[in-house]
Amino acid sequence: MEHNINKILLVEDSRTFGNLMQNRLKKKLKLEVVWTTSLKETVAILSSTLSPFSIALLDYTLPDAPNGEVVDLVADHGITSIVFTGNVNTKIREQIWSKKVADYILKNDPNSVDYVISTIQRLTRNTHDKVLVVDDSALFRKHFSDLLYIHQFNVLTAVDGENALTLLQRHPDIKLIITDYNMPKMDGYTLCQKVREQYKKEELSIIGVSASNDYQMAANFIKNGASDFLMKDAFFVEEFYCRVNQCMDNVTLFHEIREAAVKDFLTGLYNRRFFFESGTRRFSEALSKGGSVVCAMLDIDFFKKVNDTYGHDVGDIVIQQVAATIKTLTPESAIVARFGGEEFCVLAFDMDENQARECFWTLCRTIEAKAIGYNDGKDFASVTISTGVSTLPAKSLAKLIEEADQRLYLAKNGGRNQVVMWNDTIPPPQ
Ligand code: GH3
Ligand code: MG
Ligand code: MG
Repeated sequence: MEHNINKILLVEDSRTFGNLMQNRLKKKLKLEVVWTTSLKETVAILSSTLSPFSIALLDYTLPDAPNGEVVDLVADHGITSIVFTGNVNTKIREQIWSKKVADYILKNDPNSVDYVISTIQRLTRNTHDKVLVVDDSALFRKHFSDLLYIHQFNVLTAVDGENALTLLQRHPDIKLIITDYNMPKMDGYTLCQKVREQYKKEELSIIGVSASNDYQMAANFIKNGASDFLMKDAFFVEEFYCRVNQCMDNVTLFHEIREAAVKDFLTGLYNRRFFFESGTRRFSEALSKGGSVVCAMLDIDFFKKVNDTYGHDVGDIVIQQVAATIKTLTPESAIVARFGGEEFCVLAFDMDENQARECFWTLCRTIEAKAIGYNDGKDFASVTISTGVSTLPAKSLAKLIEEADQRLYLAKNGGRNQVVMWNDTIPPPQ
């Protein structure tokens, strides 16, 4: 189901707590809040809303639903819920966890609002994170997957170690593996060892699970490279989530640092260093397979004037907007990088001459027509770009870039706001 992450459902009959929650959600997370105060109102909202909510914050006891009935209602709509409760004892806690909830929060805890905010942020982040569940038992695969879906993870499943390794090859960005021990073809220990040949603990977490009551199992799993261990029949849902969260926290920092190292801070595009690293590899791959490689150098025209006229801050907004447009209008598989100040480079694969001409002229015309808002959208700036495009048979990536650069120079000299393709001797008329 498609989650609407910009909208949240709040069900709370207390005016004071509801107001506090609503204000903080709007302010801190910029979320649209739909607030209902009873089960009846919630039923009406859910049956009339076209785009479903992805997350709901629910008061466990409502005047017309004293025993968490609203939690079941929301779960039936496939919405993840975080539950508020006035007090908690073993019985209430068990009741809450017997329903499909992501977490619960104590209303009278002074940190409750901050905790809700960080939980929502975590759940939203989880939608981008892949978790692989490996178990030969269909029952447990479903059990773990269902728990992970409630926390909004992107879940993949495999039936044994071999199957898991194949999936990992296809999805190298998996961040957590939850694996059984006893499986046909390849067991959990061997899977851990194989995964650790490629991924460090900071890159990918592994939680071993087993139904066996062999107490040596936790130690064996961890010695083979697992990050944590759970007994299949003896864990509580809350404990499962705590361990999953901790494993995710451990790898998230690593991925954030790696991401920051390859991306340009202002635009979020790849930086020059990553462009050469990954571009050189992809260039040779394409060459050996006989595929095509197209390289485009793009540069904003008279950008100095933009800075002089509107100021450096507006200049930054213009660079960001041009970067976003380039990213949107070029193929997903292309490497798009910010090369320097207001200069960008695109390396695209499997594009023929017509496709390349179409792609970069469309980009040129789209940017020319774009009104770039600044000053909170009250004012607008506009710019144009010049582009030079080259292709094979250049023998190296450096040569390909050089040829694109020469054509960019022709585009500038030919009057700017245009594309010069590798076969164009004279820039086409305006
Ligand atoms: P041309 O059409 O020939 O490309 O002219 P131009 O003015 O765009 O080119 P030039 O390379 O002479 O000037 C680029 C300017 O971009 C100079 C520099 O101050 C500015 N610049 C570089 N990086 C940034 C940045 O991150 N933010 C802002 N606002 N300006 C930048
Ligand atoms: Mg320029
Ligand atoms: Mg320049």
